[in-house]
Amino acid sequence: MEALNRRTFLRTTVLTGAAALALPEFSDAQSRPSIERKTVVISSGNGIAATAKAMEMIQQGNDALDAVIAGVNIVENDPNDMTVGYGGLPNEEGIVELDSSVMHGPTHRAGAVASLQNIKNPSLVAKMVMERTDHVLLVGEGALKFARMHGFTEENLLTEQSREMWVKWKENLSTEDDYLPPHTIDDKNIGSKMSEVMKTYGTINCLGKDQQGNISGVTTTSGMSYKIPGRVGDSPIIGAGLYVDNSVGAAGSTGRGEANLVSCSSVLIVEFMRQGKSPEEACLMACKRIVEQTKMKRLQDDQGRPNFNVTFYAINKRGEHGSASIWNGGTYCLNDGTSNKKSDSAFLYKRI
Ligand code: ASP
Repeated sequence: MEALNRRTFLRTTVLTGAAALALPEFSDAQSRPSIERKTVVISSGNGIAATAKAMEMIQQGNDALDAVIAGVNIVENDPNDMTVGYGGLPNEEGIVELDSSVMHGPTHRAGAVASLQNIKNPSLVAKMVMERTDHVLLVGEGALKFARMHGFTEENLLTEQSREMWVKWKENLSTEDDYLPPHTIDDKNIGSKMSEVMKTYGTINCLGKDQQGNISGVTTTSGMSYKIPGRVGDSPIIGAGLYVDNSVGAAGSTGRGEANLVSCSSVLIVEFMRQGKSPEEACLMACKRIVEQTKMKRLQDDQGRPNFNVTFYAINKRGEHGSASIWNGGTYCLNDGTSNKKSDSAFLYKRI
């Protein structure tokens, strides 16, 4: 009994020591008020308007969650961003299906919707799920009924531009089916221009830290273009496409959702930051984890590296930020309260 007590005492002492070593920067809010008060907003590269709006709201004293959602609403409403909200590329049947999640650091609550049709601001429905239900995730018809119940307006989200892209994809999918793209009397192999109509990804993730030192985040997307109806990516899955721990930081992702779903990248990044890694280091470590866990040859290039990309975004409690991709070409937007600018993400591999 005595030995056990002693062991328990020793373990407790060691753990307390390790925790103190790992977390000094996150536990001394009182002694470092200027650092704690440092505000920041980060987003994926398509979010320059979102980071500007979110920082403006944060500087007016708003909660970080309201700020980042107001930021991404601009992108959801933009018909020219074909990866998010209104004008997003549709599923294989030509129907736009949206995914979104929100997470509120100070209350450690989350809300999400998946495969939501006809509502252009899924991030606002996700917030309503968080605030007005005992659940975290609503999908499909149930999510739509819930949105209707709360007065969200239904509308056709397919713009002419995204409809034309979808028709082009469908007509070039195969030379074996009966759909034909425009052609002339001389054309052969009609419907084989797949290189022009590749499936695409795209999303906005936005994370913010407000004047109270609280951290929140949002991810919103139309997901993979021309997906199988009902396909859900990482964006609405807490821990995959978004994660926030108010005492540590936040992380989110864009890119191949299937890879994040099987690696739980966002929670992983937050845990790496909890262990003392910088946001950029933590994002790079999550990229490496995906590389290690990509086993299927169909997902590898001839050197065994993933043939897809993901990009991560992260901030920590001190207002530090970082972003990284598996492959070069990733970008992020950053507003630190003095400037609002787009930069290149760190990366593991460079395409030659
Ligand atoms: N991650 C999103 C998804 O897989 C798409 C993207 O970010 O490009 O649905």
